[in-house]
Amino acid sequence: MIHSAVLIPGDGIGPEIAQVAQQAIQATGVQIQWQVGQAGAAQIPLCGSPLPPETIQMTRQAGVALKGPITTPIGTGFRSVNVVMRKELDLYANLRPARSFPGVPSRFDQVDLVVVRENTEGLYAGVEHMVGKDAAESIKILTRSGCQRILDYAFDYARRNGRKKVTAVHKANIMKCTDGLFLDIARQTAQNYPDIAFEEMIVDATCMRLVMNPADFDVMVMPNLYGDIVSDLCAGLVGGPGLAPSANIGKDMAIFEAVHGSAPQMAGKDLANPVALTLSGAMMLRHLGEMDAAARIERAIADMLAAGETTPDLGGSLGTRAFGDKLCQRIGKLV
Ligand code: NAD
Repeated sequence: MIHSAVLIPGDGIGPEIAQVAQQAIQATGVQIQWQVGQAGAAQIPLCGSPLPPETIQMTRQAGVALKGPITTPIGTGFRSVNVVMRKELDLYANLRPARSFPGVPSRFDQVDLVVVRENTEGLYAGVEHMVGKDAAESIKILTRSGCQRILDYAFDYARRNGRKKVTAVHKANIMKCTDGLFLDIARQTAQNYPDIAFEEMIVDATCMRLVMNPADFDVMVMPNLYGDIVSDLCAGLVGGPGLAPSANIGKDMAIFEAVHGSAPQMAGKDLANPVALTLSGAMMLRHLGEMDAAARIERAIADMLAAGETTPDLGGSLGTRAFGDKLCQRIGKLV
């Protein structure tokens, strides 16, 4: 079967690591008809927007995209292309697994958790403005339907993947209305899943426990901003930004991307670690039903990391391209 997918290379280190991810998928033998969609600041002079409508249209049609990171100006400038895409395509669940890899220097070696981040609401709704010239206001919006679908997703995911526990992360002691709504729905939803243990935890306590004993966690579900922060923390626990993949999932569509950003200072230097985006590619293959190919990519990456064949961020000496070449050879040899 030939699948259709969109490749959005992004900017910064995006194009270099997207090329490795694409080659790794090709090395599995799975056939994908790729269309390339552009996004990022370089598109503004060409079409007046960092997110050309054709890119959104292509993604809608294919239903699946693999996306490199995209730079967002800080404090000023256009709204994050990533946030706009997630909102526009209603990709409400952001799945961010964090898993220890033998051989990778990290503080812990027993981490195997998944952060499920609500992806379209909360403080990322982008409803903010100045109040006079000396105050600024940002409005946090959580809806019952938005909370319900992310909590259903988290519990379903736990059940489908043989996970044992879901932890709902919140700050309902302070944000009694918004996070209170999220927590209420979490408690109700938990009752529909008696086979999955349920735990609730305040976000600050969660961060402390994560850095002391991350093996306590299994599936974690939380509103948008906490999910963004906590998942980076989790990426740090297992060896850094170069290793953490993610999926943005909607009802009929999904975009797969690394948790990390565009690392502009590293762009074009053949130094970036392509593992996170390549693992995101494996998540995409699993989404397409190509379980064996996904497992081969993951296995080949784990073998390389265990053998110390890594990019400089993990202490190795391989460039991005050389890492990609070796990875493809290993994938080809795995049956
Ligand atoms: P970043 O993730 O780009 O970089 C943080 C640190 O991690 C840097 O030291 C960087 O060199 C390192 N790093 C990141 N990816 C790496 C890789 N693959 N290999 C080796 N080292 C890597 O975060 P930032 O500097 O805060 O953000 C840079 C830009 O990326 C910003 O414009 C931000 O808005 C954007 N961003 C985009 C996405 C996305 O497209 N999904 C996500 C996060 C940040």
